[in-house]
Amino acid sequence: MPDLTPGVPSALSPLVRRIVARNPGPFTGPGTNTYLVGIDEVAVIDPGPDDKAHVDAIIGASMKERVRWVLLTHTHPDHWPATKRLVKATKAELLMFGKRDKDVDLTPARVLEEGDTIEGSEFGLEVLHAPGHHPQHVCYLLEEERVLFTGDTVLEGMYSVVNPSRGGDMAVYVKTLERLRRLRLSRIAPGHGDVIEEPKVRLDDYLSHRRQRESQILRLLKKKDGAKVKDLVADIYGSDELPPELIEAAGWQVHAHLVKLKAEGKVTGTTAKATWTAV
Ligand SMILES: [Zn+2]
Repeated sequence: MPDLTPGVPSALSPLVRRIVARNPGPFTGPGTNTYLVGIDEVAVIDPGPDDKAHVDAIIGASMKERVRWVLLTHTHPDHWPATKRLVKATKAELLMFGKRDKDVDLTPARVLEEGDTIEGSEFGLEVLHAPGHHPQHVCYLLEEERVLFTGDTVLEGMYSVVNPSRGGDMAVYVKTLERLRRLRLSRIAPGHGDVIEEPKVRLDDYLSHRRQRESQILRLLKKKDGAKVKDLVADIYGSDELPPELIEAAGWQVHAHLVKLKAEGKVTGTTAKATWTAV
């Protein structure tokens, strides 16, 4: 069983190593996964939180001149803040997807687009725009091994959070999951948690979980003749003793579904605090 102990590099395949950052939590599982792809030339995916010891572990796992590229799946704060420190120490090129992100003060050496490939001496990493969790979320497909690095689009051990107030879009997210399901994959290397050995099973589970949640919300709204997000959360999770941060996240998720249902003309409502009704 590969090691999920923070700071300890573990080899997942001939081309892929993983180091878990020291930021375990309800949304990060054992911590953020930093992946090193390649041996002679290394691409680092998601340097993680700005922790010197973690950056030292990344550099220690490769000779620092071999780190050629730093890639991000998205710019949420558990994935990118170590970027500057890593780029400075290794002189690697920072490659970022799409338009300039105002939330982070990072300047890419090159801007990536959908379908681009990062060509290392031993590997090719294809860029797949995978919006939903974040508008500019990217997955990377390691062509040689058919491993997909999914960031926070697909996780192990928990469902991804889609928060409308942080750029999340449930309708777009479901489309992204459907697209990923059509890919031929051997494994998924998620942003948090261990490697997923059966990608299709996991993606089917993710899709059916979202479909079930959506019909549950619609059913409750029809029955209640209008409800607020917090009432729906209480109905869905019942007397389960969820910690407050997970209750809050459940609210984002319900709100994200309501926004999707509204766009489909099935419900009316506005903000997370408003009353929503079935049409
Ligand atoms: Zn994350």
